[in-house]
Amino acid sequence: MKALAKLTPSVGLTLTSVEKPEVGPNDVLIKIKKTAICGTDIHIWKWDEWAQKTIPVPMHVGHEYVGVIAEMGQEVRGFKIGDRVSGEGHITCGFCRNCRAGRRHLCRNTVGVGVNRAGAFAEYLAIPAVNAFKIPDDISDDLAAIFDPFGNATHTALSFNLVGEDVLITGAGPIGIMAVAIARHVGARHVVITDVNDHRLELARKMGATRAVNVSRENLADVKTELHMVEGFDVGLEMSGVPSAFTSMLEHMNHGGKIALLGIPPSNTAIDWNQVIFKGLEIKGIYGREMFETWYKMVAMLQSGLDLSPIITHHYPVEEFKTGFETMLSGNSGKVILDWEA
Ligand code: NAD
Ligand code: ZN
Repeated sequence: MKALAKLTPSVGLTLTSVEKPEVGPNDVLIKIKKTAICGTDIHIWKWDEWAQKTIPVPMHVGHEYVGVIAEMGQEVRGFKIGDRVSGEGHITCGFCRNCRAGRRHLCRNTVGVGVNRAGAFAEYLAIPAVNAFKIPDDISDDLAAIFDPFGNATHTALSFNLVGEDVLITGAGPIGIMAVAIARHVGARHVVITDVNDHRLELARKMGATRAVNVSRENLADVKTELHMVEGFDVGLEMSGVPSAFTSMLEHMNHGGKIALLGIPPSNTAIDWNQVIFKGLEIKGIYGREMFETWYKMVAMLQSGLDLSPIITHHYPVEEFKTGFETMLSGNSGKVILDWEA
């Protein structure tokens, strides 16, 4: 079958031919319709330090997708051939303390689809049936293909109550922008987002940000004054992974504020702990999506009027994957979809 793989330890990916995956007794085989390019795929494309120590070569990658169940192992219940599904990319062990308690997002033995094992940039993907998630008919293929990053945005944004709160989001990547729309949808008051990329800030504005702030030109203290925010932000969602963005978030939080950290900063990043201690801040790390509470919330928000469609800015047939990756690399895009059936 066709697949987009890292064939040599170097920059880029290759459209190649690989064996169709084996389907175990508890697996479903998904015929892939559409995939989306994640920031992680960009790290893999660039073959940076993280990718070099993480990605086995040769392997095909990708973990944002929608497809249709084409085959099922004999033990699988609850699905049928033809069901349209996306899937949770974190395959958990099932026997650690957290898995056994139903907190699978905290599994200490997580294996990542398209990172630690063969991925979804292919005609077929086999995953454990428990990881597949059925997509209701009223949700488009495009949106279903981005449930993975939409899930990161949802897990982070719904970590704390946002109703009537002033929310600061640092980083207007696709995930930060989706978090803007979610915060707006669930009833935040001011939703302020920062970045250094005007194209992405414009998209965030379109998705409901009260203010989209380019921190290379403007400062958050002035924005707070302009919005008559006398105290500070109640909730912070860090979605850039950039240390200076987190530092500035800490500075602009109100006392007792709550912060969810999704962005991945370099390890050993230093912060001013006095901000955390004397403000009594609560900080929570976020990894992946809650299984499967986050997935149900995503469906419910889309079905109650959350509009994420502007975040999908580009579509290419998979043969044009190079243009797709270049578009993502340029920074002038939201989500880029690769179509496997075009
Ligand atoms: P992205 O790289 O597309 O977005 C990051 C954004 O931060 C970019 O738009 C960049 O211009 C912006 N930025 C740069 N400097 C900034 C500054 N000083 N202030 C504010 N913004 C600044 O990434 P994404 O795909 O949207 O993901 C967001 C973050 O979440 C990344 O750090 C990613 O690695 C991380 N992530 C974590 C998980 C998890 O499970 N914890 C999952 C997915 C992604
Ligand atoms: Zn586990």
